Amino acid sequence: MDPHILILGAPGAGKGTQSDRIVSEFGVEHVTTGDALRSNKEMDIGHLDLEYDTPGEYMDRGELVPDVVVNEIVDKALSEADGYVLDGYPRNLEQAETLSEMTDLDAVLYLDVDEDVLVDRLTGRRVCEECGATYHVDFNPPEEEGVCDECGGDLYQREDDTEETARERIRVYEENTQPVVEFYDDEGRLVRIDGEQTPDEVWDDVRDAIEANA
Ligand code: AMP
Repeated sequence: MDPHILILGAPGAGKGTQSDRIVSEFGVEHVTTGDALRSNKEMDIGHLDLEYDTPGEYMDRGELVPDVVVNEIVDKALSEADGYVLDGYPRNLEQAETLSEMTDLDAVLYLDVDEDVLVDRLTGRRVCEECGATYHVDFNPPEEEGVCDECGGDLYQREDDTEETARERIRVYEENTQPVVEFYDDEGRLVRIDGEQTPDEVWDDVRDAIEANA
């Protein structure tokens, strides 16, 4: 069976970049709640009687989308995948408990990055609207400004990558998701990886950790 991998880390820690590499190397599916929710920002969730009527209203404020919406997305995606790398979920302890009822994990990786580095990475991030490739205006610029090297698509800045929302997302992460990191650490399953290394160095550690655990 293909491996079940969970990748944890704050917004901007490099989960997306490393997940893409995991997909190519191990042939698993990338299950990411952030992308799934971005494709469904305008979905009508009014019948659930929550604070807002669409996922986008939570996302643009840097807040978490309610568990009832997100759990269903993950349950469906995991039931359709053989192996997977799960990215962006669980974001709180309730989600972690729900996840343990849905599936078994082979490896739990944590990309550790300091807050100031996260803010720089998020505010400089640009994403291709065609293929989803990510760039950074200073650390990893495309050859031609605003144009994707891979497919020629236009690059854009995510609405939640402004400085104010980025800081709020990091605060929400510390408050809600740091306990998830401790939850897996207490179980003795967490592999801590220095996420401030270059992407290639991080990848060496990620691959080694998967090979040792899965
Ligand atoms: P990301 O692309 O992972 O940074 O996610 C972008 C936004 O989507 C987050 O700021 C949340 O508003 C929402 N989101 C993504 N994953 C989750 C989750 N597991 N639980 C709640 N909200 C989520």
